[in-house]
Amino acid sequence: MTFKEKFGFGCMRLPQIDKNDPTSIDQELFTQMVDIYMEKGFNYFDTSYAYHGGVSESAIRKAVVERYPRESFKICDKMPTWALTSKKDNEKFVDEMLERLGIDYFDVFFVHNINVPWYKLAENAKTFEYVKKMKENGKAKKIGFSFHDNSKLLKEVLDKYGDFLDIVQLELNYLDWEDSAIEAHKCYDLCVEHGLDVYVMEPLKGGVIVNPPEEIKNDFKEFNPDKSIASFALRFCGSLEHVKMILCGMSRMEDLLDNCDTFENFEVLNDEESEFLEKMAEKLYSQLAVPCSECGYCIDSCSEKIPIAEFFSLYNISKNQPESNIYKNYFDKLCDEKVPAKNCTDCKTCLDYCTQHIDIPGELKKVCEHFKDGFSAYPDNS
Ligand code: SF4
Ligand code: SF4
Repeated sequence: MTFKEKFGFGCMRLPQIDKNDPTSIDQELFTQMVDIYMEKGFNYFDTSYAYHGGVSESAIRKAVVERYPRESFKICDKMPTWALTSKKDNEKFVDEMLERLGIDYFDVFFVHNINVPWYKLAENAKTFEYVKKMKENGKAKKIGFSFHDNSKLLKEVLDKYGDFLDIVQLELNYLDWEDSAIEAHKCYDLCVEHGLDVYVMEPLKGGVIVNPPEEIKNDFKEFNPDKSIASFALRFCGSLEHVKMILCGMSRMEDLLDNCDTFENFEVLNDEESEFLEKMAEKLYSQLAVPCSECGYCIDSCSEKIPIAEFFSLYNISKNQPESNIYKNYFDKLCDEKVPAKNCTDCKTCLDYCTQHIDIPGELKKVCEHFKDGFSAYPDNS
């Protein structure tokens, strides 16, 4: 396998016309990006039933499936595990996904987002057994699951199903490599022990890695002024032997071009670079208020519809720039235009959905304290 084959187009963060409306995909720009990506010899598209409010698959159908021969591209799609209520749902969702994409087989098919609560849903619906049959009857060429929990659960799933699976998709990046909640290193080692390929999601931790405080940006410039921060993060993942695919979510043409360059001229990280990234990870973690990857999985679960990720993003930026008052204005605007963070009722429903295992209500309380806005779930502070 060449390094070029490791670059996948992640279709969870496509360009949007309206940044507040995930269904408003900028189809024209996405199509231009697809053409450049394909022209340069890349061919893997990763989507799910849920991305972009359920329209990512149809955007791929228009930009890729209807414009390129089927054998020239690969598509990975994922079962919406959280929506499974019975065995019958497996087939219902698979048929719908094939129809949305306009294809009759998947190159890769995953059970989406396995964590403790959703693993139970997949078990009840016998989804792993169903996915095994998909491979046997040619509906999927390779099968596996995407994973958002700790190594204990991963071991349990692999011990039970690892013998017929091909791939595990892990959140893996240099920030999460030794993180005690994500356990990327341990999870990677477990997959290797079971002889499975590792596909990588969130190589930039949803943008956290490429938008660090100024001080860290300057450290990167000083270390190598010619290379982007993203290129280091992608090379970290691609340098791992058992990583066979790295998904990059790209909403801007310049990101696509930079990533194409990284994979066309791929260089394995040397010792000096690895040491430097280790230092940058320590530094970034010590300055990050909340390790939110802005994946958005929590939003739909929240009965109050609090824009959780947007609050955490503002909090992170504001904590690193204490001298600036501008973020208080953004905070007030977000509360006025959407839903105030203080509306959190501490119901904890969102906790099962958080891919980063963040204590969301606890952190929202801190956000309110930071911006000095009362928090209804904690009357003493209101
Ligand atoms: S704990 Fe707060 S943020 Fe989480 S679902 Fe409940 S109301 Fe929403
Ligand atoms: S709080 Fe958790 S689930 Fe919500 S956007 Fe951030 S990382 Fe994703």
